[in-house]
Amino acid sequence: MMRAPFHAITPFTMLDFPGLCACIVWVAGCNMRCGYCHNPQIVLGKGTIGEEEAIDFLRGRVGLLDGVVFSGGEATTWPGLAGFAARVKAMGYAVKLDTNGLRPDVVAQLLDRRLVDRIALDHKAPPARFRQVTATGAYRQFSKTLDLLCAQEQVPFEVRTTVNTGLLDEDNILEIAHDLAARRYRGAYAVQRVVIDKDRPTLGHLAAEARSLDVARLMSESPIELVFR
Ligand code: SF4
Repeated sequence: MMRAPFHAITPFTMLDFPGLCACIVWVAGCNMRCGYCHNPQIVLGKGTIGEEEAIDFLRGRVGLLDGVVFSGGEATTWPGLAGFAARVKAMGYAVKLDTNGLRPDVVAQLLDRRLVDRIALDHKAPPARFRQVTATGAYRQFSKTLDLLCAQEQVPFEVRTTVNTGLLDEDNILEIAHDLAARRYRGAYAVQRVVIDKDRPTLGHLAAEARSLDVARLMSESPIELVFR
């Protein structure tokens, strides 16, 4: 029996695909295990929605929605992603990919085949902290994706870091900002806070942060534009 790749579909969002009305397709499974992850059921669980069911949903939204966001989990872990994105594009939708960057080969394929219109890349941590944050030692793979995206002008992309001050501090954020500047990243760097909700356990059962980020220091010392969310 074919694997059902999707955990869920969020039918409508104005927030996740800048400038477009979109839906979010949540791909089950992930190749990281971030302690602050709020979606253990997507990361560890199996999908329940099959490709054809998702296509039926999208057919019914043609003319009502402009775009489809592939999120997860990690959408690039699904071998069917490029084929499915091609079907979505053929229906006239714009495609956005949210990715942790561990599959530069998949990102390159999507770009080469012009199957993606926008990318949000999660920069989890600088090299020395990467394993601690993600439970993988794959910084080099991530770095390849970052280089690939910085070198292209085909699609807009955004780099963002989710910060829990128990895992990353201001020096780590500034190290990433300097690295982005050195790679000639042209966009704004988004720093997102983790809000720990005791009623919604994270993958690593993290406690609430003991302190906040020093935003003023980050703003004054970053070599590139920062946005805080
Ligand atoms: S937060 Fe980490 S573990 Fe959770 S879906 Fe994203 S990359 Fe995977």
